[in-house]
Amino acid sequence: MNEENQVYFVDSDKLPPAALERKHRLEQDPSFRTDHMKYMDGMQVIESDIKDKVLKAMDEYDYDLYTANDVERALSHETCTIEDFKALLSPAAAPYLEQMARKAEELTKNHFGNTVYIFTPIYIANYCQNYCIYCGFNCYNNIRRKKLTYEEIEHEMQVIAETGMEEILILTGESRAYSDVSYIGEAVKIARKYFKNIGIEIYPVNVEEYRYLHECGVDYVTVFQETYNTDKYETLHLMGHKRVWPYRFDSQERALMGGMRGAGFSALLGLDDFRKDALATALHVYYINRKYPHAELSLSCPRLRPIVNNDKINPRDVGEKELCQVLCAYRLFLPFAGITVSSRESAVFRNGITKICATKVSAGVSTGIGDHEEKYEGKEEADAGDEQFEINDSRSFASMYQDMEQGGLQPVLNDYLYV
Ligand code: SF4
Repeated sequence: MNEENQVYFVDSDKLPPAALERKHRLEQDPSFRTDHMKYMDGMQVIESDIKDKVLKAMDEYDYDLYTANDVERALSHETCTIEDFKALLSPAAAPYLEQMARKAEELTKNHFGNTVYIFTPIYIANYCQNYCIYCGFNCYNNIRRKKLTYEEIEHEMQVIAETGMEEILILTGESRAYSDVSYIGEAVKIARKYFKNIGIEIYPVNVEEYRYLHECGVDYVTVFQETYNTDKYETLHLMGHKRVWPYRFDSQERALMGGMRGAGFSALLGLDDFRKDALATALHVYYINRKYPHAELSLSCPRLRPIVNNDKINPRDVGEKELCQVLCAYRLFLPFAGITVSSRESAVFRNGITKICATKVSAGVSTGIGDHEEKYEGKEEADAGDEQFEINDSRSFASMYQDMEQGGLQPVLNDYLYV
């Protein structure tokens, strides 16, 4: 087994022999896998040249060619060009982090004032039909699976809403079989009773399905591309619909075509070369913005976190300094874009980065299924499903709100009214 194909995350002790055999073949024999660039039946193809533009720019990006002069030139420009952005992401920009942060802070203030948005995620199911080798929910990982009933969803949402939260992000594992679009739509309708702003982070769907979910009450859709390197993607997503890279790439565009107000983008930093993935993520946002100028676009910047049954996963070469460089470069290149920093990062890091360039943080987070009441009230964990990954910042909504205020920021729970 070569290094690229080695799966070192999953405890497979309890898999039935046929599943184990299939898992091993998927890991060891690339020819056993389906073509990750070919759409599967039922996947809608849309006309768009954005993929080609992003892939070309990423392929051509040689960050070692950039020098201190290029970085200084980029910092002297009022508007950050694509070339400037490439310089700011390069290793040559590392000594200029302070200047980048100061400029990023100024731009953030110009576009967002002192505000910081607070939301919470809710996982309503953790069934997943994909085999992403870095994720605790993958179909071969031996975890407790759970899908909330509508009554349980309503109860969880009541518990969250009672804290004062007004924005919720609904997540599922990626399983159409267990969490079909109508199940998610019903969950959204329940959420509409309690929250003013609703996002979803689910498996990618077609335009008409996004339209249906929007009619149910979804405001924005977030899809993580994980890595924009298609070859690397092939080695990490061995099975399931998620394996189809281009269908995933076009998700945000399909969501906007389906009437969504906003879309979120991200690579999972640490899976591959983080500078190239950061370039591709920002260019994805940039080109979507040019094509859909009305859309509210945002970036997330997750790094790998440990998962159940594997304590070896950690961000590789993406330390906090590198993450900070990426985030400041994002702000300079895309001053209008929201930037979300999740509870994967520490409280200290999140407190600091919200003063510079991040505009949104999660609070009261659980990545398990159906355990908000237990977590919020400090009870023993009941019959909850396992978590997707371990979080780093477990602050409650109240404590996050207080910390943001004490840091001189103005916490915002919602800025949108339906009339
Ligand atoms: S990353 Fe998403 S699609 Fe992949 S295994 Fe985890 S939950 Fe499933």
